Amino acid sequence: MENWVEINLTRLKNNYEYIKKIAGKPICAVIKADGYGVGSYEIAKELEELGVKSFAVAFLQEALELRKFGIESEILILNYVSYDKLSEIEDDKLIFSIYSLDQLKTYMIGKSLNKYRFHIKLNSGMNRLGINREEIPELGEIALEEKMNVEGIYSHFAHVEDEEFTKFQYENFMEMGNTLEDVFEKKLLRHISNSGGVLKYPTYTLDFVRVGMGLYGLQPLEQKDLNIKGIITWKSKISAIREVKKGERISYGKEVLEESKKIAIIPVGYAHGYMRQLKKDAFVIVKGRRCRILGKVFMDQMMIDVSNIEVSFGDEVVLLGDTVEASVIGEFSDTIADDVISKISPRIERVFIKE
Ligand SMILES: *Cc1c(COP(=O)(O)O)cnc(C)c1O
Repeated sequence: MENWVEINLTRLKNNYEYIKKIAGKPICAVIKADGYGVGSYEIAKELEELGVKSFAVAFLQEALELRKFGIESEILILNYVSYDKLSEIEDDKLIFSIYSLDQLKTYMIGKSLNKYRFHIKLNSGMNRLGINREEIPELGEIALEEKMNVEGIYSHFAHVEDEEFTKFQYENFMEMGNTLEDVFEKKLLRHISNSGGVLKYPTYTLDFVRVGMGLYGLQPLEQKDLNIKGIITWKSKISAIREVKKGERISYGKEVLEESKKIAIIPVGYAHGYMRQLKKDAFVIVKGRRCRILGKVFMDQMMIDVSNIEVSFGDEVVLLGDTVEASVIGEFSDTIADDVISKISPRIERVFIKE
């Protein structure tokens, strides 16, 4: 293999067990975007074996793929599902989200909403998806009329580092929840915490928590938690080595070397999902040493500076891992760790390892 991603399932297990212990509540594992780019099926399978009983994905398509691979647990779909897709579904372990009156009204065409299970997403302050407080009466009216099976309510924290705002969101959510329970005359499952919420606000865990980042070993808070460890290592091998003299050009464009260098080529580029816009000096790791990326990242290659180390054709290169974390690559390119790992191309082979 010239380019692969190692996924450490032992660390996934450790992260899961650590977060579960802190939360003290069941974990709904969020595996949208292919498990944040990690590879959803194997991650979900492993988590199901560890005892996870519910998953959340963004889109219906992702849920159906998990089913194809044999995941049988409940799956909450967080995002928009069109009515024509919804109407094809016969799966009583899928739970759909109602997050706006406009959306709900498009579901009323078929008039068989009692077939499906729903959680209502409430807008507690983020103003992305979610029913507003003043929309609750109309929502309630429709839901009762349509005999909708509403089982739960949820919301999402916008900025867990901001304690005041998070408290505001939580309290707002709880009040709206009470109103909805009055409307439906029953208890509704409540969930609001994401990874950062679990770590920072153990009292806001409610009936269950929706965790993504922490499971994948991404740090959800500014204050690092060393119990949460990265689970992916992106590796490649040196595909060419050459000496380039001072004054010669390298890469596309007009870049001229100011001193002679030994350069290695790696068969990984932006089409594999490596960030192209590098605003800061970016590096990869060869033999434990940092090697700077030179010139531009190409579609499927990059050049690195190996002037000061002994390297040979085929030597292993770490593009992302413990020694160069996703958040560090994020800093190279003005983005965040989630963005970095969710962009790693699904074409790249995933190798699952246990310690
Ligand atoms: C992505 C997402 C989560 C998980 O958040 P993390 O910060 O990755 O733990 C939870 N809830 C919703 C609605 C999400 O979109």
